[in-house]
Amino acid sequence: MFEDVKAPTSEAFEAYKARLTAVSRRAAEEGVDALLITPGPDLQYLTGSTMTSFERLTCLIIPAHGMPTMVVPRLEVAALRGCILHSPAVVLAPWVDGDDPYLLIGRSVGRSARVAVSESTQALHLIPLMQHFDPPVRLATDVLREIRMIKDDAEIAALRAAGAAIDRVHARMGEFLQVGRTEADVAADITAAIIAEGHTRAAFVIVGSGPHGADPHHEVSDRVIEPGDIVVIDIGGPVPEGYFSDCTRTYSMGEPPADAAEKIALLEEAQRRAVELIRPGVAAGDVDAAARNYLAEHGLSEYFVHRTGHGIGLSVHEEPYILAGNNQTLRAGMAFSVEPGVYLQGKWGARIEDIVVVTESGCEPMNRQPHGLTVLPIAG
Ligand code: ZN
Ligand code: ZN
Repeated sequence: MFEDVKAPTSEAFEAYKARLTAVSRRAAEEGVDALLITPGPDLQYLTGSTMTSFERLTCLIIPAHGMPTMVVPRLEVAALRGCILHSPAVVLAPWVDGDDPYLLIGRSVGRSARVAVSESTQALHLIPLMQHFDPPVRLATDVLREIRMIKDDAEIAALRAAGAAIDRVHARMGEFLQVGRTEADVAADITAAIIAEGHTRAAFVIVGSGPHGADPHHEVSDRVIEPGDIVVIDIGGPVPEGYFSDCTRTYSMGEPPADAAEKIALLEEAQRRAVELIRPGVAAGDVDAAARNYLAEHGLSEYFVHRTGHGIGLSVHEEPYILAGNNQTLRAGMAFSVEPGVYLQGKWGARIEDIVVVTESGCEPMNRQPHGLTVLPIAG
């Protein structure tokens, strides 16, 4: 049955097996009898599978003790070939239309089991699953958090490749970002470049020009880029390994107004100070404070309206969050953004964002494009 399987490298197989084992052990420590993992970043992390979830339930059962079992619609079994989910390391439990896959899981795990479900599980599947267990269902994140937060060498290599790919897009920004074009025109070109430079897709493209830059949630619009505009460009997407890039730089269309140049220089220093503080043992909240306090000392605290950063990996936003009061201690292998910003309502905004990975003695930046306000010359 496995002869024609296009086997991934045995190295990758061993890595996934080790993750499944580590998660089982952790589940036992956390008092969880079984994890129920549906398609999404958790399943991708544990098995490499990028399958998506439809109305038919697909669910990997990882018991605290024993072999993982893959509950999957029979018609999707073929798609698992070459994946650890279709190997002797996992029991396959296919079901057909007319079966009740929720009952199948309930019976297999047991009504009194303490189960934890991946956070991306749709309500469509979660609610019928919950009917089969007496103890309250928990989030699998409680078990997976500590494991997924620490990236291994292969994950860091993928984040490095993602960082280099998005840096190449920022390096080409002068090709796309020009006076007289709309934000939407610019975004369309950036989207193509994100893919051309090595991502599988563009996950987000923010082009916030002039007053739009003051809205951190702005995406794109038909506003025409004008001379003197300050423009926030926040872009990213996944590379083939599934890991995300996320990088923001701020540009000026021709010479910037003096006030903006001055404030953005302070922002650059705030971002640098936060990055400089990062090393194992420092609290995530202290990294936030490094940027926030510096901006406050220069009268800019009211303009910095969001957290300093978020973890990143197979999800764009994951733990650890670099947030005021978060006493999560940084450890080598954690990957997250450092992205303070200043937003002057009705005028302009600026943000500087790098992804960094914590090392034994500090951190390694995944992004290396110049941080300060990049002045793009106005053609003609
Ligand atoms: Zn971003
Ligand atoms: Zn970000």
